[in-house]
This record gives sequence, structure tokens and C-alpha cells, in this order.
Amino acid sequence: MSSGSTGTDPGTGPSVLRHRAGGPNDRRAAAKWRDARVVEVAQPAVDAVVLRLAVPERVQHHPGQHYVVRLRAPDGYTAQRSYSVASAPDDDLVELFVERIDDGEVSPYLADVVEAGDDLEVRGPIGRWFVWSGYTPAVAIGGGSGVAPLVGMLRHATVLGHPEPLRLAVSATTRARLPYADELEAAGARIALTRELGTPHAGRLDADAVAALVDPDATVYLCGSARFTGAIETLLVDAGQPAGTIRVERFGPTG
Ligand SMILES: Cc1cc2nc3c(=O)[nH]c(=O)nc-3n(C[C@H](O)[C@H](O)[C@H](O)COP(=O)(O)OP(=O)(O)OC[C@H]3O[C@@H](n4cnc5c(N)ncnc54)[C@H](O)[C@@H]3O)c2cc1C
Repeated sequence: MSSGSTGTDPGTGPSVLRHRAGGPNDRRAAAKWRDARVVEVAQPAVDAVVLRLAVPERVQHHPGQHYVVRLRAPDGYTAQRSYSVASAPDDDLVELFVERIDDGEVSPYLADVVEAGDDLEVRGPIGRWFVWSGYTPAVAIGGGSGVAPLVGMLRHATVLGHPEPLRLAVSATTRARLPYADELEAAGARIALTRELGTPHAGRLDADAVAALVDPDATVYLCGSARFTGAIETLLVDAGQPAGTIRVERFGPTG
């Protein structure tokens, strides 16, 4: 796949998205289940795994989209869950970040059992709402594993050579639990660590922090638990961000 775009308009420039995902044929292909080969497995934290997959007949994704992973038991029982793409579209592999939920059905298997060389049933990329082209002003706010699609956006902006349209703010309890902490810090993301008092990034994305992110001309991509996204969305609207500019991706249970 190509890289090193000049960041010109996606319709005319040598964009990494010249092969556009989202046409009717691509949507049909993306809906098809296929066996992806797990090429790399990394454990960035005790409660997380990064899986890098080679997806056959892959449909190129837009930053923000996700894949569905399906596990199948010998008796035919299946369980499927969604995972956002953390890699840039021009990456040869599809990278998924999975937080291990202790009493979960799927994430512990992905974190503890899956090894390089295994095959995983996947379909995707999916999602047409929570996507960013890389060219329009964007404010991306993520909590915990909700950071994953934002990292895909950041990596895409880096490939394009134009990171300036993207502003990032992320939150986690501790630095060890913030996915891709080094990469986000290097990119100048606003980092809020709620349980690391006395450290440079200690704090919350509170009303003042959120008000500083308001940009009526930008689209806001907000991702994380229902509790996190609900709280931040309220603060954004209260601070003047038009509700119609806010796109939300919720992970996990409600409440
Ligand atoms: C569009 C989309 C994209 C997603 N992208 C990612 C991603 O990039 N990385 C990622 O790690 N997850 C992501 N998720 C969440 C993921 O799909 C699963 O819900 C998660 O991995 C838990 O699945 P499980 O089978 O392990 O737990 P389940 O068996 O579904 O749940 C077990 C228990 O954990 C609780 N629980 C479930 N999910 C969460 C959660 N996220 N946080 C806290 N408690 C939870 C449940 O209420 C239940 O009590 C995404 C979800 C959606 C809808």
C-alpha cells in the first residue's frame, strides 16, 4: 500500500484513501466474514492486548471505523464483539487494541489465548458515521480503550503530513492504563489521568478543560464508556459546542 501523501484534497491528491472505502461493492465486501491471520501480538499493559491482523481481500478503512471479531466454540456457539481500528489506512496490517474485561466473554480470550499465527474470524471495516477523512477540523476525545480509534486518526494525520486539523484529548485512570500513552504524548494530546495525583497529567477532563476544546467549526469525535461520553458531551454542549457537530461512539455497558 502507498504512503507519504502530500495531504492534498482527497478527491484529487495522491491520498492514501484514493481507494475509497464505502462504495456499494466495498460495503458488500466489508460485510463478508473472513479469516484474518494474527501476525503480531503485543501486551502493552497487563489488562490489554494489541493484535495486528493480515486481512485477506481487505477493504481499506477510514479512520474511526471498526471490525467485528467472532469467536466460535466447537459446539458451534459464537460470540462477536466490535473493535476499532487503531492503525492508519496505509498500514499493511489492521491493528486492534483490546482492553481485557475480567468477567468478559470475548476480550479475555483475545488477550490471554490468541497467539501469532492464529486465525480470527472478522468482518469489516464497519461504520460510516464515526469516520474522519483527515482533512477537516476535528476534535477527538477518548476515555480508556475509547482512545483506540483516535490513535487511528492520529496515525492517518501523521501519514498525510498534516496533523494540524486534529486536536486530541484523552483520559484514563493511570498512565499505565492509557492506551498508546507515549504516542499520544508525543503528538501533544491533552492527557488527563484521574488517579495519578501529583504527576504532570493528573486531573480530569473537567468543564474548563472541555471548554478549551470547543470549536464550532470542527467535528467532535467522542469515544469511550457511556458514562464518559455522556459526561463529556454535556460539558461540550454547555460550553458552546453545537450538539450537531458531536459524534459519539460508546463502548461497553450503559450506566
Ligand atoms: C463500535 C465499537 C467499537 C469498540 N472498540 C473497542 C476497542 O477498540 N477496544 C476495546 O477494548 N473495546 C472496544 N469495544 C468494546 C468491545 O466491543 C466489547 O464490548 C468489550 O471488549 C467487552 O467484551 P467482552 O465480551 O469481553 O465482555 P462482555 O462479556 O460483553 O461483558 C462482560 C462484563 O463486562 C462489562 N463490560 C463490557 N464491556 C465493557 C467495557 N468496555 N468496559 C467496562 N465494562 C465492560 C459488561 O457489562 C459485563 O458486566 C467497542 C465497542 C463498540 C460498540
